[in-house]
Amino acid sequence: MLRYCSICWQKTLKFSHCNYCNKWDYGKCYECGEQNIKPEWCPNCKQLEITLKILPLTNGFNKIDQLIHESQLKQNHNCWRWIDHTELDNIQYLSEGGYGIVYKAVWNNMPEEIEKNYLNASNASKIVAMKKLKNSQNITKDFINEIKAYNENNYSYIIPIYCITRDPITNEYAIVMQYCDKGDWKHIIRQNDKSLSWRDRLHMLFNMTNALKEIHENGYVHCDIHPGNILQNEYSSYLSDLGLCNIK
Ligand SMILES: [Zn+2]
Ligand SMILES: [Zn+2]
Repeated sequence: MLRYCSICWQKTLKFSHCNYCNKWDYGKCYECGEQNIKPEWCPNCKQLEITLKILPLTNGFNKIDQLIHESQLKQNHNCWRWIDHTELDNIQYLSEGGYGIVYKAVWNNMPEEIEKNYLNASNASKIVAMKKLKNSQNITKDFINEIKAYNENNYSYIIPIYCITRDPITNEYAIVMQYCDKGDWKHIIRQNDKSLSWRDRLHMLFNMTNALKEIHENGYVHCDIHPGNILQNEYSSYLSDLGLCNIK
């Protein structure tokens, strides 16, 4: 499909990357006309709206504020936010791992740009996964390490993070991320589903080798790869649990 790049106004073939000026082009903001820095994200309008909402919720935990801000300003990075725990409805237990408990929930107020970019035929119903970190009442080094690793490794086959919240009863922090309806690879391997073709299996491995290639090229090592940490939906596999991920 041919379109015009909103930066150089030349005709270009690709949707969000101009093959003429070689810049990422997400169009202009409908409100103020500023160039968007990512899909549906204007640095003037969106930035302000989010910043004002963040401050009262974080109780001044500057490190997390800072990481959220960084995510909002980076190009090609999905934007994180703080949300109030009450925005999540219908919370259901999914599984428990060494670092936390994973739930699924419905995020009715899901922002438009997340809906547009991350919901698909495999999950069209605003379902998200929420990982509550054990003993995270006081922000620990592990918690900061995990969200920092997600912040630094925002790639196609790393599970996308949407927001961070805090349970008002237990005071535990939680990372809210994309929900993968096929579960993790451990579950998939145990099912031994014969309908999973060799083509599907190769596609899954291709996704994971790509994820690892990207984080390694970025100077990080995951340090905790196992089938329980790889999530699957209809279309793609995602590496998750970056809790031990570290700089080489
Ligand atoms: Zn251009
Ligand atoms: Zn704007």
